[in-house]
Amino acid sequence: MSSMWLQEKSSQDVGDYLKSDDRIIIPVGSTEQHGSFAPLGTDTYVAATLAEEASARAGVLTSPPLWFGWSPHHLVRPGTISIRAEVLIEVLSDVIKSLADHGFRKFVIINGHRIVNISWMQIAAERAQRELKVKVVIFDPAYMSKEIVKELGFGPIGHAEEIEISHMLYRYPDLVDIKKARDNPHKARHLYHLDPHDPRDTLCYIPATREDLNEIYKKTGDTVGGTPTESSAEKGKKYHDHLVGRLVEVLDQLKE
Ligand SMILES: [Zn+2]
Repeated sequence: MSSMWLQEKSSQDVGDYLKSDDRIIIPVGSTEQHGSFAPLGTDTYVAATLAEEASARAGVLTSPPLWFGWSPHHLVRPGTISIRAEVLIEVLSDVIKSLADHGFRKFVIINGHRIVNISWMQIAAERAQRELKVKVVIFDPAYMSKEIVKELGFGPIGHAEEIEISHMLYRYPDLVDIKKARDNPHKARHLYHLDPHDPRDTLCYIPATREDLNEIYKKTGDTVGGTPTESSAEKGKKYHDHLVGRLVEVLDQLKE
């Protein structure tokens, strides 16, 4: 399967592609701390790897990933880069607008950065649909994996927990030093419980603060929410394959 990254194609190649297809994927992640054992780019890597495989399978172009997200609470640890949500709305809008200008009409945005990215992505997507008359789909791995997380034995969604770390261990094992991982089991809260896999989900997002993360660091020696020590490449493969399958389904449906 050949790569479908836009940045590896010539302008001529893209023009030829547009003669028979108007779909494109845009992977969006973040550059933020993922504990002392996983890379800052984790959220972008997981979005990009889904895009890479699904785009090759479906023959759909993929734009370069957006490596930044909104991560103010993670600035508590070195290396995190947080872009303001209002700026991200404009950046994504401009990416879509540029591509729409050449004839792309159907956009699939892959969210590697959970609920934090969804809010501003939805605003950019709505605006693009209204102003440019294009179709924009947000593909969120947490929602799109609801059916299989129980079967894989994953615990609740947290941060640098066994779900994204299993995915990383499958696709980028050299970037994770799992021996250094420390758990911080994520407890379900009665109110403001946020986890699409859980029927108690209230979709009420209250971002953690720097103080919260400092507290976790003091208690556990790391800034993780979940049990990364339970990660495995094998589970990561099943999770990845499931999501790639669903993504290809979305892309096929957009072709019709
Ligand atoms: Zn993450």
